[in-house]
Amino acid sequence: MMGLEYLLAKAMKKVYFRFNDSIANVSVGIAERLLDLFTVGAFYGVYDYLHHHYALLSIKPSAWTWVALFFATDFVWYWYHRFAHEVNLFWAAHVVHHQSEEFNYTVSARITVFQALIRTGFWAILPIIGFPAGMITTLLLFHGLYPFFIHTRTIGKLGFLEYILVTPSHHRVHHASNPQYLDKNYGDVLIIWDKLFGTFAPEVEEPVYGLTKPLRSYSFLWQQFHTLLELLEATRRTSGIRAKVRLLFGPPDRIDGQIRDQLATRFFVAAHPLTLVQSITRLRGYVVGQIINLLILLFGLTLFEHQIPLLWQVMMALFILLTLINCGAILEQRQWVIHLELARLIVLWAFLYVTTGDPILIILAYIGAISWWAYQSLIQRVYFNFLFGLAKQPAQ
Ligand SMILES: [Zn+2]
Ligand SMILES: [Zn+2]
Repeated sequence: MMGLEYLLAKAMKKVYFRFNDSIANVSVGIAERLLDLFTVGAFYGVYDYLHHHYALLSIKPSAWTWVALFFATDFVWYWYHRFAHEVNLFWAAHVVHHQSEEFNYTVSARITVFQALIRTGFWAILPIIGFPAGMITTLLLFHGLYPFFIHTRTIGKLGFLEYILVTPSHHRVHHASNPQYLDKNYGDVLIIWDKLFGTFAPEVEEPVYGLTKPLRSYSFLWQQFHTLLELLEATRRTSGIRAKVRLLFGPPDRIDGQIRDQLATRFFVAAHPLTLVQSITRLRGYVVGQIINLLILLFGLTLFEHQIPLLWQVMMALFILLTLINCGAILEQRQWVIHLELARLIVLWAFLYVTTGDPILIILAYIGAISWWAYQSLIQRVYFNFLFGLAKQPAQ
């Protein structure tokens, strides 16, 4: 689907995809799918527990209860999403979905496992009302597919559907930072909730996508955690328990905008001119290769989840996460990326040892470590030359 959209955009001679943005979007999605493997069962367990112990009604599956559940789920989503924008603590997780300054299908992948956790908390009301866990998880499966189709600029307005459903046009408004579009169109499948609760805005002028204060960073970890760190720092600076609580549960505009820049400097993610690279194709080729590898690995992991021992799964997951951080660092042309490559190699090596149990690997690792130490500067030069096409090392 993303490929199709890309070709369509190309045919229409429109630039809807930017390399770094799209890679960052897909990276976030890979991490979420990965962590989902370990958490989906837990969500079902929570709903089932709540249903068995606290259900107010005993609801049986029938045409009417499925329809009721659909409306209830969509209604809860509306409020989850509204709170995700209006409460700092929840915004810290949801912000990741809004960082991209592009708008295409890859943006729909920008969901984190933290968002999934908070959403699960909101939907916990459904088993308490009396819907069985099986019904809820089945409906959420289909509910979860819908948002994918609304993250595109290739589809215009959809006639009478605009009155009932959340359409691509409505969701473009939601992702825009134009003043009149801020905090609008929270709905997931039905747009009626926005019209009912006064948060609806139609698409009139061309939306500008991304945050009101753009992130301009492709660091995987910084994208995931910058708002949380900003929030903690702002809370630390506030005196009085009451004021602190009010900040945590207050709207995002209460956080001082300068805090992000100060933290970025502290954590070495401050923006710097990207002029080091002489061969952008090489760097992109490397990153795309890594992402394709990860997609294959993730696919295999999902398919054979129940046959693979847990230790192997954890090691594969670690490898995937390290690679994602690695790709972000490469896009940012960080020098420390070489240490991450080493960490990836160690994980890979440990994985080989665990799966084969061959002691010769230990000896080889020892020799490898010694030679690494001996030729470190040489290896670094070769690696940077390969990646960035440089004769000398890039500056920090
Ligand atoms: Zn949102
Ligand atoms: Zn969205």
